Amino acid sequence: MSLISYGKQYLDSKDIKSVNKILYSSFLTQGPTIQIFEKKLKSELGAKFCTAVSNGTAALHLLGLALKWKKGDIIISTPNSFVATSNCILYSGARPSFVDIDYKTGNICIKSLKKKIQLLKKQKKKIKAIIAIDYGGCPADWPELQKISKKNKIILINDGCHSLGASINKNHKYAVKFADFVTYSFHPVKSITTGEGGAIVSNNKKVDQQLKNLRTHGIEKNNNNIWMYDMKRLGFNYRITDFQCALGISQLKKLKKFIKKRTEIAKIYDKAFIDDKDITIQLIDPYKSSSYHLYPVKINFKKLKCNKNNFFKKLLKFGIKLQVHYIPIYKHSFYKKKFNLKEKNFPQTEKFYNEVISLPIFYDLSKKKQLYIISKIKNTISKNNII
Ligand SMILES: *Cc1c(COP(=O)(O)O)cnc(C)c1O
Repeated sequence: MSLISYGKQYLDSKDIKSVNKILYSSFLTQGPTIQIFEKKLKSELGAKFCTAVSNGTAALHLLGLALKWKKGDIIISTPNSFVATSNCILYSGARPSFVDIDYKTGNICIKSLKKKIQLLKKQKKKIKAIIAIDYGGCPADWPELQKISKKNKIILINDGCHSLGASINKNHKYAVKFADFVTYSFHPVKSITTGEGGAIVSNNKKVDQQLKNLRTHGIEKNNNNIWMYDMKRLGFNYRITDFQCALGISQLKKLKKFIKKRTEIAKIYDKAFIDDKDITIQLIDPYKSSSYHLYPVKINFKKLKCNKNNFFKKLLKFGIKLQVHYIPIYKHSFYKKKFNLKEKNFPQTEKFYNEVISLPIFYDLSKKKQLYIISKIKNTISKNNII
């Protein structure tokens, strides 16, 4: 039996056909399909500008470059994310300042954020941006984040890699409404896939022009002179290919269907766990809807006197490969060596990390398999034979 993992892509014959068509066309890369994908993303997200790039990490890296982050700058972010959210700060020489999360949602804690900004301002630090994520696909408190960013004149970035298809007050175009810049990833575990791929969307023309320039070495073409080009800034080759964009266009058509199915799966989990005294589900405020990139639950292993690793091993024996999202970024040895942050400053993140596991959720997870997962998890906990 193959292992059931936490997430994976779903492709159909239409996807394959769309990619095939471009593979037989004149442009594998730097062709017209990239702009078409960008246009579709803009209309899906209600944004004026979009730059598609080679992956979500490249999107974050280029954004830091375009915003001219440098040594001495502080970028505020969350420790409960994939390392890329914070690595992009280090690429520019700036320094990340982590804020504790809200244990109930996994998103950045507004109260802690306000305190952190006050403290940094007192120390006369240059706070250049706040990067928050929509943990698991559940939107953070963006109306409040926007207020804070406006009041303090700090750029607000949504690393929205989890949340393509989520909504606030039924508005699926909330991301650029509240944040100045939004980044996406189209890795196979995300809402839609292009294999590797990413994008930055915004309503900022100037920054978008920079991003388009920086994704192709910082080179600008001269329209009056056919052969002339000039490198103005040091950029990278972070281009996405035309056949990846063809896949993206085709996948985007299925986004609604994908999210609907993920929501149905989530509702079945919700029902199974909502009254379970040992399992806590993620709090999603009623005015928000999640894209359900993840289905995280928290189990108080300490109270149950279980070892989390043994729990994982037991479930693996049943063919279920659980995951943890995330190991707090400051706990990685690179970050420890560089910043040596104290765990006691992140009490909610620590508690969350000790308890959280991600259950399988993806488009073609069958109901039968899901009920199997639920029963194995419940049995393993209730028998309390994990040790
Ligand atoms: C997936 C992800 C990224 C990185 O995207 P890649 O396309 O894998 O480079 C960044 N941030 C978050 C929150 C992600 O989930």
